[in-house]
Amino acid sequence: MSADNQGVTAAERSWAVDFSARIHNKHAAELNELRTAMTEAPRRGEPRHLGRRQHRLGPLQSFEDASVQLTMVAESVELGWFTVGPAPAGMCLTVSIAAHQKDTGIQTSLPLTECDAWLQALLGGQWMLHAYRCGCATGAASENVVSYRLYLDAARKPIRKPEEVLADACLPLQP
Ligand SMILES: [Zn+2]
Repeated sequence: MSADNQGVTAAERSWAVDFSARIHNKHAAELNELRTAMTEAPRRGEPRHLGRRQHRLGPLQSFEDASVQLTMVAESVELGWFTVGPAPAGMCLTVSIAAHQKDTGIQTSLPLTECDAWLQALLGGQWMLHAYRCGCATGAASENVVSYRLYLDAARKPIRKPEEVLADACLPLQP
């Protein structure tokens, strides 16, 4: 295990995979629908705002805390949204997870392990390898919101963050 593995042990990792499998088992249909919606090509004739689209899933019950509900919001934009000059073809997906108390609606936070598990349940293992945790100002709307990014090429295959994209606080989830 490499030194930059952020102290995640093999046992923790396999627990996380199991956790995301449980989430996926319970919410497969909704998660598949969200994944399809957020990765589809912009429709022809659709009003263009650099192809910006937003999809929402929730409220969903937290697996760790029955009194907490979460909402996932996936936003897709063309890579040009994040560049000053010319941008490569492709898109950036931002998946944000927000949580609130079920009874009061007050915003709360979810453990990162649960957020990671929801993302993995949404993306699947292969795409998860290309995901970034996003701490960019353009990512999360508030402190309690956990954001992730995924960069896709023109063929909608996950890629490393292109150099042209200004997103210094996007850190790879997988070392
Ligand atoms: Zn970022």
